[in-house]
Amino acid sequence: MKVLVLNCGSSSLKYQLINMQNEEVLAKGIAERIGLQEGFVKHEATGKEKVVIQEKMDNHKDAIRIVLGAVVDANHGAIKSMDEISAVGHRVVHGAEKFSGSILINEEVKQALEECSELAPLHNPPNLMGIYACEEILPQVPMVAVFDTAFHQTMPKSSYLYALPYELYEKYKIRRYGFHGTSHKYVAMKASELLGKSLEEMKIVTCHLGNGASVAAIDCGKSIDTSMGFTPLEGLAMGTRCGDMDPAITTFLMEKENLSSAELNNLMNKKSGVFGISGVSSDFRDIEDAAAEGNERANLALEIFYKRVKKYIGAYAAEMGGLDAVVFTAGLGENSKECREEVCRGLEFLGIKIDDEKNNVRGKERIVSTDDSATKVLLIPTNEELMIARDTLTLVK
Ligand code: AMP
Repeated sequence: MKVLVLNCGSSSLKYQLINMQNEEVLAKGIAERIGLQEGFVKHEATGKEKVVIQEKMDNHKDAIRIVLGAVVDANHGAIKSMDEISAVGHRVVHGAEKFSGSILINEEVKQALEECSELAPLHNPPNLMGIYACEEILPQVPMVAVFDTAFHQTMPKSSYLYALPYELYEKYKIRRYGFHGTSHKYVAMKASELLGKSLEEMKIVTCHLGNGASVAAIDCGKSIDTSMGFTPLEGLAMGTRCGDMDPAITTFLMEKENLSSAELNNLMNKKSGVFGISGVSSDFRDIEDAAAEGNERANLALEIFYKRVKKYIGAYAAEMGGLDAVVFTAGLGENSKECREEVCRGLEFLGIKIDDEKNNVRGKERIVSTDDSATKVLLIPTNEELMIARDTLTLVK
């Protein structure tokens, strides 16, 4: 059985075709600049040469047509016919309180997803566009929605409610939802496998540190708290997002800088974070390079980023009443040994001891703490696509 996994952004579409018999990736790629001039699809079938298909794509339907064309292409494709695709798994960012797990898509689900769009206006509409486009192109193929928020639906009310008038939660569903759930769940499961210990007996903090970044507290396999909130803006400082700050700054800035709500949203989401502090880049590689060359603001951006991750680890250890493992994943967490080192520095009181030699690694699943470290530190490359494909398979079976 072959499952196509789609992750649709506003102007991009990432895909993977996975053979579920052995969980092998048959093809993967990305369509970029959808709806813009000079669109292209970067495509790679396993064992074949990478190709770049340059073609204008007016919408997600055009993009999916080109992607499927590439997947079945005689030269650089991975399968003979589209009939070989048994199901499509869609990443959907926001499932609100309606979805605490993945779900087979039908009319009712689509309606519910439309309603969730109000809570995630940047993310859910493109996810839905992908669903509608697939439905037209592959009308017989079952589709499943896998939500970023679902894994965090186990949080207790004391974690997810904000200290706002309770009626606002009832009226608008203003609460913490949390994101990156598929990734947090995957790496926690992998950590339990790697340590040979059941998830039910572990307290884990998972750190998904990429361009978007979040930390989760996972007690007995369940998310009990996470740093992202009502939207993916809360929590850690990120590539371009500000994360936690005094909410009074918003009204202060709107008045002083004469900003509209859209302009303020843009400032907090696109111009802040390590980019805003360093003035260098939102890419941690550029910031690490600039810091190494003595750029003080780049160094400060890294210090602020690391300190916040550390604060969340401490807070979540306190919240869970213990800590068995800390897991690092995503672009920065997987690739930057400095990041893991700096975040864990000073956490010896929590039983954490990093092994410098073991930590000197990129993108490989491994324990990076010393053998006698009471709390284990692990590097686990995330694999959200595989999780989406597995859930899709389970639901269509
Ligand atoms: P993601 O959102 O998971 O794709 O992660 C993207 C982020 O990971 C970017 O900010 C990259 O700079 C960062 N990243 C990727 N590779 C490295 C690396 N070798 N060293 C430091 N940061 C990296």
